[in-house]
Amino acid sequence: MHFVDAKGILNTKNGFSGMNIYRGCTHGCIYCDGRSLCYQFTHKFEDVEVKRNAPELLEQALKSKRTRCMIGTGYMSDSYNHYEPELRLTRKCLEIIHKYGFGVAIQTKSDRILDDIDLLDAINKDAKCVVQTTLTTYDDKLCSIIEPNVCNTKRRIEVLEEMHKRGIPTIVWLSPVLPFINDTEENITAIVNECARVGVKGIICPDMGVTLRDGDREYFYAALDKHFPGLKDRYIHTYGNSYNLSSPDSKKLMKIFRNICIKNGIIFDMDECFKFMNDLPDKQISIFDL
Ligand code: SF4
Repeated sequence: MHFVDAKGILNTKNGFSGMNIYRGCTHGCIYCDGRSLCYQFTHKFEDVEVKRNAPELLEQALKSKRTRCMIGTGYMSDSYNHYEPELRLTRKCLEIIHKYGFGVAIQTKSDRILDDIDLLDAINKDAKCVVQTTLTTYDDKLCSIIEPNVCNTKRRIEVLEEMHKRGIPTIVWLSPVLPFINDTEENITAIVNECARVGVKGIICPDMGVTLRDGDREYFYAALDKHFPGLKDRYIHTYGNSYNLSSPDSKKLMKIFRNICIKNGIIFDMDECFKFMNDLPDKQISIFDL
């Protein structure tokens, strides 16, 4: 890892405020879009850039904001990478979000988020907190291949369950679904049923497929060569250089996914999921505040 002094931390676009405390990631997912050349990394993806002044910048930004809103984090780089336990920058930023009464929508694959569950709980009580994770495969052996350096699906489901017990709403990203790898009926059914069991609020699944761009594609294909000999040729033959690689079974799998969501009252419309994560209700004034 290496440290930088960032110029700013909070990006506000289309009414959504987001921040990335880190740049790059140590979790090693074979399909990671963050590796794409378009993001113009000047360092190795695993050599995580740490914005050491993130808490100070965030405090300045929130102090001057007129209205409270949800702050999104963890979309381009996991907020709970291997350095967070030592650096505690995500935690410091959460403390500032709490101090100024903002809400947070935080995404991670790591169970390190449980270290901050009390703080997330406090934010949720005073404003709103939404915890998001990604689930791609119910098979933990496969999980250790496609997402090698982070806790497995079983553990991530336990994290979702812990959040639910505290009344913290959760959103799952069921993505990517890798053609010829995890695009099976059994996998989608098992994941969505588990989401229902642990009270997941919404599931985001744009398509049963994966997107690949330059940079990301090379890394993904090298992993296919290592772990799934022969599969790269099948990908190239089926998809060429496409950006969208949709599973041949996408239609059938999307139907299964939606049906289980409907049966269990899980939001599956993407706009609705994003709206839920963006909306910050007015704080209810309790008699104890008076
Ligand atoms: S956790 Fe997210 S940012 Fe990190 S390697 Fe995996 S996909 Fe990329």
